[in-house]
Amino acid sequence: MLWNPWHGCRKCSPGCMNCYVYFLDGLREKNAAEITKNKTGFDLPIKRDRHGNYKIPAGTELGTCFTSDFFIEEADGWRGEAWEMIKRRSDVRFLIPTKRIRQFAECAPDDWGEGYPNVTIAVSCENQAKADERLPLLLDIKAARKYVFVSPILEYVDLSEYLAGGGIDAVSVGGESYANARECDFDWVRRIFSDCRKFGVEFDFHQTGSNFLKDGRRYRIKHRDEHSQAKKGEEYLRAELNENENRNG
Ligand code: SF4
Repeated sequence: MLWNPWHGCRKCSPGCMNCYVYFLDGLREKNAAEITKNKTGFDLPIKRDRHGNYKIPAGTELGTCFTSDFFIEEADGWRGEAWEMIKRRSDVRFLIPTKRIRQFAECAPDDWGEGYPNVTIAVSCENQAKADERLPLLLDIKAARKYVFVSPILEYVDLSEYLAGGGIDAVSVGGESYANARECDFDWVRRIFSDCRKFGVEFDFHQTGSNFLKDGRRYRIKHRDEHSQAKKGEEYLRAELNENENRNG
């Protein structure tokens, strides 16, 4: 499930070039550069049904701020209230992706301590330069769980030095979606998977992107099929690596 307490964003990175928020807003003639508080869904985590129960059940994972960036400065006036809801719903897991990990220290709540136990911080880095800029910052902060999103993947990203220390819990790779999507080469995904396996880090291939290259052949994948095709690709990689490991004893 998703919770988007605010909507709209400013492009800040090569991965933003074909941002899906801009693409989808463009279809509705909406300006994604306008950052607005969600009028009806801002308080989704604490909304109750007519029986007085929370609408979001305990144990749910809520993808947080997937149509903006949780740490964007335009949301400074709203974030405090969002943190309060996150704290209050300690029975819900919040997954917060960001390209603005640099802002984290300024934006964390005063009682963050070692990190709220129900919050995962996921840093998105689409290429090596952004990984080298953002991952040292991610490793430096306190958080109960830390993820890396290599998404939209633009090249092979060598995460070895960041995975080696054990500070990253999971890596998720995804290609770019919709019109003008840049290619996602399955070989890059394969190499990142192999690096994750080497360091015992959870791996997930969440979407192929619309422009998928596998073994020299290009596939145009419909957005609705990107996730299922990626899962097939992930299964293939797991089988391939197991086979290689068995062969090599
Ligand atoms: S940070 Fe994310 S939501 Fe914001 S413009 Fe870039 S890709 Fe889009």
